[in-house]
Amino acid sequence: MPNPILSLLTPLLLLIFPLISVHAQDTSSKTITMVMPYAAGGPGDIITRLFAASMQKSLGQQIIVDNTSGASGSIGTLKVARAKPDGNTLLMIHVSHATNPFMIKNLPYHPVEDFEPIGLATEGPMVLVSRKDLPVKDVKDFVRYVKTHQNDISMGHAGVGSASHLCALLFSSALNLNFIQVPYKGTAPALNDLMGGQLDLLCDQTSTTLPAMGVGRIKAHAVAGKNRLSSMPDIASLSEASVSGFDISIFFGLYAPKGTPSAVIDRLSLALQNALKEPELRSKLESMGVSAVSPDKGRPESLRLHLKHEMETLGPLLVKAGIQLN
Ligand code: ASP
Repeated sequence: MPNPILSLLTPLLLLIFPLISVHAQDTSSKTITMVMPYAAGGPGDIITRLFAASMQKSLGQQIIVDNTSGASGSIGTLKVARAKPDGNTLLMIHVSHATNPFMIKNLPYHPVEDFEPIGLATEGPMVLVSRKDLPVKDVKDFVRYVKTHQNDISMGHAGVGSASHLCALLFSSALNLNFIQVPYKGTAPALNDLMGGQLDLLCDQTSTTLPAMGVGRIKAHAVAGKNRLSSMPDIASLSEASVSGFDISIFFGLYAPKGTPSAVIDRLSLALQNALKEPELRSKLESMGVSAVSPDKGRPESLRLHLKHEMETLGPLLVKAGIQLN
């Protein structure tokens, strides 16, 4: 005896099923997850959210930002490496993608072999900042102070291999000093401790340090490079205190898991290039001292070459410094 409810439902299900399966295959209508492997509120997070908001307009897809942080960005990065390669899980990451293989033993992914580059997004400088009551008056005084107090100074960073860690390493090795290093899950929590006076020093990107400096909650001492910045002309460069040997600039780029079809990569790269053309996005970044790269750099080849260059230049430096996590 046929079930009367099933008999009623069958024609309806026959109508619905084809619709469900077409939708399931149409990955371009799904929500995209953009993984930012550092804590919310940090420089990487700010940049990721700006690009997610802009790219979702041209893609016509919602983009949510997922801050899977920890282990120097490697937890969030692994999440993307293992995601379905359909263009719906992406990774926004900076120099730690290049440095982690040299610093983390048995890293469970390969930065080149497990990812498809989509394009470059931004480039930005770094600045050395401290708790607001560090008793120094200018950059020379700052360098003198850290030299005489090296054993008591705590320097925060976003984890081994992060940009802030790289800057801390380069700064301490340029002065031949050893600070007490304090790792965090991102520079947002480090900055909180700096503002609260529990941490002494941090070398971070301007996107988070500029606003905190503006309201006097931290003190800026030097641009981590050769020249002053137009976004903070009153802050000396480290070279003015005769500290040379590094000029650090941080690039962010967008990746998809290996195996993502090239048509999908092209579509995502086009959306990234559209974002890079947007005057509003460019000026928002500029107000934080960060530059959106030129739109033609939002292509896979630019990011592929940039990553190769970073791995080739920073790798030997890190191996020489003998720093390893695990
Ligand atoms: N700025 C951090 C770094 O040092 C990462 C972040 O929190 O965005 O790499």
